[in-house]
Order: sequence, then C-alpha cells, then structure tokens
Amino acid sequence: MPTPAQALDLILDRVAPLPPRSVPLSEALGLAAAEALVAAEQVPPFTNSAMDGYAVRAADLAAAAPDHPIRLRVLGDLAAGATSDRAVETGTTWRIMTGAPLPEGADAVVPVEDTQRGADWMEARKPLRAGAHIRHAGEDIQAGLALVAPGRVLRPGDLGVLAAVGKPVVPIHPRARVAVLTTGDELVDAAERPGPGQIRDANIHSICAQVAACGAVPVPFPRVRDDRATLAGVLREALQADAILTTGGISVGDYDFVKPILEELGARRVFWKVAQKPGGPLGFWMIEGKPVFGIPGNPVAAMLMVEEYVRPALRRLMGFSALHRPVAEAVLEDGWSGKAGDRRTTFLRVVARREGDRLLARLTGPQGSAILSSMLHANALAVIPPGVDRVEPGGTLTLHLTEAAEDH
Ligand code: AMP
Ligand code: MG
Repeated sequence: MPTPAQALDLILDRVAPLPPRSVPLSEALGLAAAEALVAAEQVPPFTNSAMDGYAVRAADLAAAAPDHPIRLRVLGDLAAGATSDRAVETGTTWRIMTGAPLPEGADAVVPVEDTQRGADWMEARKPLRAGAHIRHAGEDIQAGLALVAPGRVLRPGDLGVLAAVGKPVVPIHPRARVAVLTTGDELVDAAERPGPGQIRDANIHSICAQVAACGAVPVPFPRVRDDRATLAGVLREALQADAILTTGGISVGDYDFVKPILEELGARRVFWKVAQKPGGPLGFWMIEGKPVFGIPGNPVAAMLMVEEYVRPALRRLMGFSALHRPVAEAVLEDGWSGKAGDRRTTFLRVVARREGDRLLARLTGPQGSAILSSMLHANALAVIPPGVDRVEPGGTLTLHLTEAAEDH
C-alpha cells in the first residue's frame, strides 16, 4: 500500500499533458501556456505622450520662469491615433493628447495644467527636462523579451500583454474533460426527497465543482446503480473523456463493483488503497492511456482524495508546471489526538489564519470522515505523519493550503 507521497508519484509518473493546440486570446484565460511566449514586437510601438499637453523642445523653455513666460506657436492638434505632418522647430509646439505619437523635433511634453493658452499659442512659466512626460518606443517591452514561461497559467494581464505584442492566438494545453460518475443504490438527486434508506448525492456536486475549480471541464454522468452491467456500460461511455472519476463502490462491500468491472474492461491497476486516513480506498488505473480514479463514496474522503491526488493529476494533464498547493508549518491551537497507527498518514480539516508572521490552525470540529459540514469551513489540510497520534495544543504541524494557488 503506497504512502500518500508514493501514490501521488505513481499517478504523476503516468499522466502527461494533453497535446497542445492554439486558441484565440479570448479562450486562453486560466490555461497553461504550451510554449515559452516571447514578444515579437516592442511596446509601446512608437514614442508617445504620457500626458495631455504640448510637445516641445525642452531647450526652448530653458529660460521660462514665473515672471518670464515663454510663448510658443501651436502648429496644430494631435489626438491619440493621429500623426503629425510637421516637425516641432524652435518657437513652435503641437498640442498633444496622451498616447499620440511625439512629433519629430519634440523631446518633452508640457502638461496642459502648466500652460496658458490662446488661439494659436501657449505659454509656459517653468522649464522642463528633455524626456519629460514621454513614453519611449520599447521602454516597456523590447522585442525578444520572454513574457510567459511554458506551463504557466495565463492570467488577464498576460492576455493584455500578448495582445499588445501582436499575438492574438496562443499555444496552450486544453482543458481536460473529466467524466464524473457517482455510484450507489441509496443515492437520489439533490432536488428529490429521499425515500427510506436513501440519501442525496452530494459527491456529484462537490466533485464536479472541484474539477471545474481546477480549470477542467466536468462531465457529470447520470447516477449509476450498484449493478455490474449498468456500471460497465457507463464506464465504457466515460472513456471518451480525458480522465474518469468514479465515487463509491470501491471498497470491499458486496456491491462494490468498480474495481472488478474496470479490470474487466482492461484497466491496468496502478494501486488500490493509500496508507492514509480518511479515504484509504482510492484506486488508480490507466486505461487506453487515460487515468481512472476510483474514489471512495464517503463525501469527505472523496473531496480529500480529489484535492490531494486528482487535482495535481488534472493540472499535469492541462500542462501546468506548478502542481502542488503551498505547504506551510502552522501552530495547532486546539490540539488533536487520534489513532491512525504507525503506517497511515492522517489528514485533518483545519481552518488556518495568519497572525503576524505565524500561521495558526484550528480543527474544523469532529474529524469523522462522514462529517461533511467540516468542508464548509476548512481552508487547509493538516498532514500528520504515520506514528503520530496526538498533537498538543500549541504544537506544530504541516498544512496543505487548499485555497491558495499551486506554487510548486
Ligand atoms: P461506498 O464507498 O459506496 O461504500 O460509500 C461509502 C459511504 O458514502 C456510504 O455511506 C454511502 O452512502 C456514502 N456515499 C456514497 N456515494 C455518495 C454520494 N455520491 N453522495 C453522498 N454520499 C455518498
Ligand atoms: Mg456504494
């Protein structure tokens, strides 16, 4: 039985990024760049004004003073998008708007609020340095500058920069399509009133949402009865997706068919069960090059398994180079005791908060693996190594910060 770290390695060793393709910028948000993205053009493309004002030769205003205004003749107006047909010569100026190209001969812009103006003249009462209020061609981005490393998520600002350098189409790894199947005769839809012995299907919602939160596309399947033939049929259909998640039916109960059916369909088992609590019975198979996760039905265990194992795998499928949530040491304010034994890692749901430069954590409450309400509050998972059965109040433990973006 692999440890959590071994299980994750076994998974990640088998999952490779989906083949890249190119998409327009409007479809690229949140996806991983499939190549290093480099600026082919400079920004700004031409030297332009940073202010509304007057394009001047700074030398013309060298002698300007409050009691000695200097008057320049205005050659015309330059709006953003316009170009000048005459150079600024000694004694002349163009009125210029922010973003308009600096006319030839000018080397500075006098902000409009520092001037007085008449019909075809302006006056300035103080000097300014050459280069004042000018944005030089290429001062922001030079052609050849590395913009985005491969495997990095594309954020709104990246898309703006790519547009500015003339890259309207970007190579990305596509979103993974993930089939999500829940199994169990006891399950009914969230909108139904459960009959005797029935409960509502929580997992289809929490897991599809976790998949969507990774940036992948969940494909929820109709709930599967605990029946071999139905399960086999649905699993075959699910093979259309890039990855398959099933919940329930994975332990050793009389109706736990997921494992044998997958193997009948030709799935190769990589492992079944991880040495951890909660959620030991996680199965992982590969079939037709696709990862299949058999996740326990218990809703807390299910979410935990998706967070710890499925999410990094989906991120790798989608080409991200950072796969793992930030790890941090925290002080457990309220202490914990349990009995995972000396082989199993224990995961605890905690609420973490910063206080100065320390991270403090509190348990969400009872840690039973059916306590779904713990998921309302948890923002981190504490990882207790095998053999540790208590943490004193004020003791330290390691957290996976499950609400922070992956950093390694
Ligand atoms: P199983 O893994 O199928 O043995 O299920 C373990 C426990 O989780 C049982 O109490 C199930 O009723 C419950 N369970 C299984 N699937 C779901 C689900 N989709 N939503 C809520 N509870 C579930
Ligand atoms: Mg079941």
